[in-house]
Amino acid sequence: MPSSEFDLIHRYFAAHRIARRDVLVGIGDDAAVVQVPGDMALATSVDTLVAGVHFQHDAQADAVGHKALAAGLSDMAAMGAEPAWAVLALTLPEADETWVAGFCRGLFALADEHGVALVGGDTTRGPLSATVTVQGLVSPEAGFYRGAARVGDTVCVTGTLGDAGLALRLAAEGRRGEGANRVYLNDRLDRPSPRIGGALRMRGLVRAAIDVSDGLVADLGHILEASGVGATVLVDRLPLSPAFRACSNDIEQAVDLALAAGDDYELCFTIGGGDGPALEKVMADAACPWTPIGTIEAERGLRLIRDSGASYEGPLHGYDHFATR
Ligand code: ADP
Ligand code: MG
Repeated sequence: MPSSEFDLIHRYFAAHRIARRDVLVGIGDDAAVVQVPGDMALATSVDTLVAGVHFQHDAQADAVGHKALAAGLSDMAAMGAEPAWAVLALTLPEADETWVAGFCRGLFALADEHGVALVGGDTTRGPLSATVTVQGLVSPEAGFYRGAARVGDTVCVTGTLGDAGLALRLAAEGRRGEGANRVYLNDRLDRPSPRIGGALRMRGLVRAAIDVSDGLVADLGHILEASGVGATVLVDRLPLSPAFRACSNDIEQAVDLALAAGDDYELCFTIGGGDGPALEKVMADAACPWTPIGTIEAERGLRLIRDSGASYEGPLHGYDHFATR
């Protein structure tokens, strides 16, 4: 028997236990009601995944569920906010319970890992898409704002860059196999780990931050623009994973991917020029590697240079849904 909208909501969304005491009203009323502590501000972010644009129509449902939430969690990390609540607008071509069950598995595994409660949503029929709004709590003075980079700051990134982009490229080239390295890259594309833990530990040291979803050049560019500054980035210092090095066959292509490919959901952030050792200390047990890659300067624009001192002619743009070329 086909499921109704309400069967789906009850079986898959309302059935999941909410472990947060600050959810006064969750799924089942006209709106969710949550308690915000008096001294905290609310951070809100929304992301949409559209089938055929952000994921293949035949993508695994649990990976879609994971990624639909991961994007918003990554935005919370980039603000220095602790994620708390989410709402989900899900549009399905049909009430395919197997797909919804898989989607929920991916979504709730990640939600539970970060103590996030799904408090509401909307379920409609139409072309497959998932829109997740995430809300989190941020102390207004300790938030990470794009406009806060200062001349002399060190530019850093968490984790490694380009893994998801390389996974996409290898798939587009029809390359299969390649064992554990390829599995690692595909996992980085399908199940990114938002840097919540690292971000929360960095509070007090980070000045400006952004999550790398459209490629480092584009995303760092937003920090530079908002802060009215420029930067030099040392392309030979870009952190690349062992799997990335093993699977990319030429170094220029590798550097370009690390500079311009999106979807890694790492953080790009700045700290005061002398704050590296302090950051090292707080990050030691965060399981969140980070790498200094450049310096904020007064001269506007982004300069890419090699360790030799030669300038690097890299890609100047990241991903843009409405780009005309
Ligand atoms: P309304 O008609 O008031 O918009 P709905 O019938 O759309 O309410 O939804 C009923 C309840 O189920 C609401 O509390 C809503 O937030 C929740 N809900 C609907 N779809 C989802 C979903 N995909 N995920 C989580 N909660 C959902
Ligand atoms: Mg509704």
